[in-house]
Amino acid sequence: MLLKDKVAIVTGSAQGIGREIALRFAEEGAKLALCDLNEEALSKTASEIGSKTSQCIKLRADVTNPDDVEAVVKKTLDTYTKIDILVNNAGITKDNLLVRLSPEDWDLVLSINLRGTFLFTKAVSRPMMKQRSGTIINISSIIGIMGNAGQANYAASKAGVIGLTKSVAKELASRNIRANAIAPGFIKTAMTDKIPEEMRNEMLKLIPLGRLGEPKHVADLAVFLASELADYVTGQVIQVDGGMVM
Ligand code: NAP
Repeated sequence: MLLKDKVAIVTGSAQGIGREIALRFAEEGAKLALCDLNEEALSKTASEIGSKTSQCIKLRADVTNPDDVEAVVKKTLDTYTKIDILVNNAGITKDNLLVRLSPEDWDLVLSINLRGTFLFTKAVSRPMMKQRSGTIINISSIIGIMGNAGQANYAASKAGVIGLTKSVAKELASRNIRANAIAPGFIKTAMTDKIPEEMRNEMLKLIPLGRLGEPKHVADLAVFLASELADYVTGQVIQVDGGMVM
């Protein structure tokens, strides 16, 4: 077990990639704090994980709300007395061409994807600094590296996550806290189910491995980064994209 008795907060863990990361962490012996806006799906995922050996608490939280974020961190510390791992996974898309992109949709995507990551990172940094240990994993995207027509807000938010990750890695390294980003390519989840069939087929042509990714591909890398196996890895952006960007 790579994460035995490690305490992990995973945001946006009701479904998709976050859910799979939480499940894999549980299989590796972690104790979990799940948080999401989607309460119904969150309860389902939490009881699924609870039926395995690991301990699991769930909290409805909006990552853009500082009070919600503080409440998750406090509840996690009250329950488990420490926080070893934070996965900033909650994220959304609101796609539109630049000329049609509203300031509201710009703000919403930046707020959830980037501000949420900042708020949670800041909130766990104090207990992690006291512990003199911790690892932070931010879910970015290859879109944050390569850009994409119709996704200026999403690309900016995910590029911002990369800048934030590298800065946090430099700032907290002396306290033995690591921070890394995962940049997934095209992964099968509710987020990508929305993409029209025709566009999906076009994207497939750009993937050398010739297939879409599964949430498990991202979760396996998250396990590695969270574990002692990655003890000397910090400030990195690692792509899980079937070779789409190289
Ligand atoms: P998903 O299936 O839509 O899951 C995202 C989860 O985050 C949902 O349960 C959602 O709840 C929750 N969430 C949204 N806003 C939130 C908020 N303000 N506070 C707390 N939770 C919130 O998406 P996914 O595909 O698993 O994506 C997970 C992460 O991977 C995202 O950061 C995404 O940008 C990134 N990513 C995904 C892909 C891909 O191909 N799927 C590729 C690259 C990067 P609701 O259902 O209530 O909105």
